[in-house]
Amino acid sequence: MPFLMKKTGAMRVSALMPNAVRVGNGVAWQEDDYTPSSQLPGFAGYGLPAPSRKSSERRMCGSAECESGWTMPWRNKRRPIFEGQWGCSGRCVLAMVQSAVRRESGDGGVVAGLSPHRHRVPLGLLMLAQGWITQLQLQKALSAQRVSGSGKIGEWLMNECGVEPDYVTRGLSMQWGCPVLTTEGFSPEAMALVVPRVFVERFGLLPLRVAGSRILYVGFADGLDAASAFALEQMTELKVESGVVEGAQFEAARSRLLACDGVETKLETVENMDSIAARITAILEQKQPVAARLVRVHQDYWLRMWLESGTVGKTGSLPVSHEDVRDHIFAIRGQ
Ligand SMILES: [Zn+2]
Repeated sequence: MPFLMKKTGAMRVSALMPNAVRVGNGVAWQEDDYTPSSQLPGFAGYGLPAPSRKSSERRMCGSAECESGWTMPWRNKRRPIFEGQWGCSGRCVLAMVQSAVRRESGDGGVVAGLSPHRHRVPLGLLMLAQGWITQLQLQKALSAQRVSGSGKIGEWLMNECGVEPDYVTRGLSMQWGCPVLTTEGFSPEAMALVVPRVFVERFGLLPLRVAGSRILYVGFADGLDAASAFALEQMTELKVESGVVEGAQFEAARSRLLACDGVETKLETVENMDSIAARITAILEQKQPVAARLVRVHQDYWLRMWLESGTVGKTGSLPVSHEDVRDHIFAIRGQ
């Protein structure tokens, strides 16, 4: 059995980050266990330390530019770990973080492939074509929307024309080509730990539940946000399935989640990408996390740190409690 698949505490930590190698559109899976990165086809290795045979284990430095030849002793031979790799010195941690910031700042590749701006059939027309509303209802809702200058067409159809919410939800699901999800099995306490609440507020997403310890269901009230879903997939190491949730159900679940303790989050605005890397390096050196990862969510850079090995749950990399986990979110001024 490859050592990465052993479920001991220490192994889970070292297995946390290097496995989230982006393979195609997501994380490589094999049943409920990760496929060790060394077994992925064409995978060259991410500087993961070899299984230790001696008690005097030495970790390899994760920085490509490291000059210490892997074995320079530092004050701590185990921490900080950033994206599965240990940095032997402040300089090496900075180099690792800079390369992660550069990677996240890129727009190309997988995220662009999600084509968030694909043209969609207007919801009203779609519902009309399905025979769920009449021409008259659509006209009434459109003119009410025009007069008020605000609100979504689905809301006007429900409020002005008495259209059942279920039809609007089904219409959105067809419009976005995604399933209708319910809030059944929703645990606000657990789901509050998935993502900083500021993202729940800003991007209209709601973590709903984890199924089979590998799929995270995420609900949206009006339209999917592919960029958020993709970022969540990178951060949690779970496969994210997005869908629309009926408006009232969504709002009720969302308020319950926002009432729970989430992961402690600090927001910072900085000047540029170099300042993000410098700040993250300083934070990593101060907090000495056993695991840490950076992902970009729209214009925000989200750093999550697991400060103790017990904080990594059995489900992807979801924290088991809000203790000993920290989020930092960086925004660049003017963006
Ligand atoms: Zn180094």
